[in-house]
Amino acid sequence: MPLKPFDIPEACHLIEGAWIRGEATIQVTNPSDGASLTTIARGGKGQIDAAVIAAQVARDGAWGKMTAAERGRVLNRIGHAVLDHIDTLAQIEALDVGKPLKQARADALALGRYMEFYGGAADKIHGETIPYLDGYTVYTLREPHGVTGHIIPWNYPMQIIGRSVGAALAMGNACVLKPAEDACLTALAFAAIAMKAGLPAGALNVVTGLGSEAGAALAAHPGVQHMSFTGSVRTGEMIQAAAAKNVIPVTLELGGKSPQLVFDDADLDRALPFLINAGIQNAGQTCSASSRILVQRSVYDEVSARMTDAYRKLRVGPAISDLDVGPLISARQKKIVTDFLERGADLPIAAQGKIATDAKGHYVQPTLFADVPPDHTLAQDEVFGPVQVLIPFDDETEALHIANGTDYGLVAGIWTGDGGRQMRLAKALKSGQVFINNYGAGGGVELPFGGIGKSGHGREKGFEALYGFSTLKTVAAWHG
Ligand code: ADP
Repeated sequence: MPLKPFDIPEACHLIEGAWIRGEATIQVTNPSDGASLTTIARGGKGQIDAAVIAAQVARDGAWGKMTAAERGRVLNRIGHAVLDHIDTLAQIEALDVGKPLKQARADALALGRYMEFYGGAADKIHGETIPYLDGYTVYTLREPHGVTGHIIPWNYPMQIIGRSVGAALAMGNACVLKPAEDACLTALAFAAIAMKAGLPAGALNVVTGLGSEAGAALAAHPGVQHMSFTGSVRTGEMIQAAAAKNVIPVTLELGGKSPQLVFDDADLDRALPFLINAGIQNAGQTCSASSRILVQRSVYDEVSARMTDAYRKLRVGPAISDLDVGPLISARQKKIVTDFLERGADLPIAAQGKIATDAKGHYVQPTLFADVPPDHTLAQDEVFGPVQVLIPFDDETEALHIANGTDYGLVAGIWTGDGGRQMRLAKALKSGQVFINNYGAGGGVELPFGGIGKSGHGREKGFEALYGFSTLKTVAAWHG
């Protein structure tokens, strides 16, 4: 039972500070070897109703009445407690989602950092006074939405809890969290840590279960004032439709087909590890994965040869072995990725990594395709697996055209020493984030993140998230 260190009873939701046993359960298996780990509760409308009521009570009670400074102090305490448990959280995540240990540790560290960042920010966000007509004083108040709903995916549970629940709590919202059915364990562990660190009951409620049951009930709940969702485009559309019925704001982060543009004056020694790591990290199951590598023809052969060489050395195995790549999360995800690989049968494969285990997990070989036409399905659609495509281009104009030529716009990387080109492309790329001579910037708790187009809308991370998780009231006082 991986949650033993946190004293969490099996198959429970956390509602109003109490562990409530689920009536039905879902089996949890280890994606690295198929072994049974534990069970989680399969909640539905009843548990979501109870969690929303608990959040309303907390919002109007102990949590809502705290000053911003007190809230910040609680979040900081939670952050420190998370940092004290990095290894345990990483082990749980490695077992539950198949993430190699080093990457799971990085997620746990990021969760701690988010809580510290938002703990520090809680009392530093404020309204303004606005010069207005004679005889008036006008000012604005930043207020919490009230109850916020958080539906999160299985690929980075800890990071996404940190960036959405952390920011929502900092602004004084009370949260109902529905983690993905394939990745609930660190969400439950985090909730236990938060309670122990002094988060009042009901400020964070966790209901586990299926998307079509607990998730749909949360998304449609009339007692929720803001919804934050990270996941697939298809589910994002449903969340937005449900939010529209209740006329509430929604933050959607829905993935991408993020390019890196490599020009012939790039520092290739520096670029190479970023080009590859951005594609294979977390077995490519990353919204901001860089699945398209656009390379100027004059250096195309060199980049292709160097990436080929590196791909051949990649080793895939159980999360606990901490190799380059772990298993995919599920048999379903493996089928999605292998279907994509089949659709690439008409493309040259530059190289593949090696599966270095006999374990019965959801493993696929990391695969690099060469000379991929920009309109090919592998250059247009999100695979969510360790698959990258190399696309040649002649000049800056063509590179930009290809880079902007998908439905998505989450992250882009530019590799060039030419300052003018850096600035031109940073403006012209259709993307929520642009990295110049790096990619991902080490996670970037402080850096606003989100997309355009089918990558979604709204911004999480950084200070910007605090505006999204609050609403503005304008007060106009006439005093003559
Ligand atoms: P994937 O297909 O990769 O599992 P999803 O977008 O379906 O990605 O899942 C992301 C999150 O959305 C998970 O927590 C999942 O349970 C939830 N979810 C899935 N379907 C629905 C739905 N119809 N309504 C609300 N949440 C959902």
